[in-house]
Amino acid sequence: MESLLMPWFESSGRDLPWRATHDPYAILVSEVMLQQTQVERVVPRYLAWLERWPTVESLAGATAADVIREWQGLGYNRRALNLHRSARRVAAQGWPDDLTELSGVGPYTAAAVRRFAFGEDVLPIDVNVERVLRRTKGRFFPRAAEALMDLGATVCIARTPRCEACPLSRACPSRDIREAPARKQGPFEGSFRQQRAATLRAVAESARVLGDLDHEAVRSLERDGLVVVEEGVVALPIRERGS
Ligand code: SF4
Repeated sequence: MESLLMPWFESSGRDLPWRATHDPYAILVSEVMLQQTQVERVVPRYLAWLERWPTVESLAGATAADVIREWQGLGYNRRALNLHRSARRVAAQGWPDDLTELSGVGPYTAAAVRRFAFGEDVLPIDVNVERVLRRTKGRFFPRAAEALMDLGATVCIARTPRCEACPLSRACPSRDIREAPARKQGPFEGSFRQQRAATLRAVAESARVLGDLDHEAVRSLERDGLVVVEEGVVALPIRERGS
């Protein structure tokens, strides 16, 4: 199947900025941003991030408050602190052999950095790749990782795969089979996540009096190290806890 996939990727693959680099720091930034944010939203934020902090050392030297502020709008703000922690560790000790030792780096993100930055023979399996592998029952080499990701993101999509436009259709046993829709995440609107996001956004603009904010959201953000509360004032952390 790879012989069908790769020519399609050559002509129809996505042109994404993190594909133009093998810098492990830049790859890590992109992968952490992509963990829970859509590609279109990540692209400009990734470029802005690297302009501000082009190296792992520059990010390591930033304050947690600046990192949280720069992250605003990407959602799931704990990722910003994890990225910051990882940068500090790498700046101090170099890249660990086991990348999952870095904060917020799970097996998938580790595999992606190993593949795209270090060129290792490992296939990172994200949700899109997993879907294509499952449906095609195909075997693909690690060099096909980006092609599989693009096929899963644009053609072999979750609910209504576009089999008629798929380069693998004549070899795929799942062609034209529809799957039951997966359970969707609850709405963001009116959720506690939204409340947390709004609270953090307010604090990122300027320190606030605790009484002006949603207490539960503040406590939750405080537990995650995203804000500090001192003498009734809620602010972004300048230094991280324990540093
Ligand atoms: S033929 Fe359909 S189900 Fe099979 S890989 Fe292509 S899009 Fe997915």
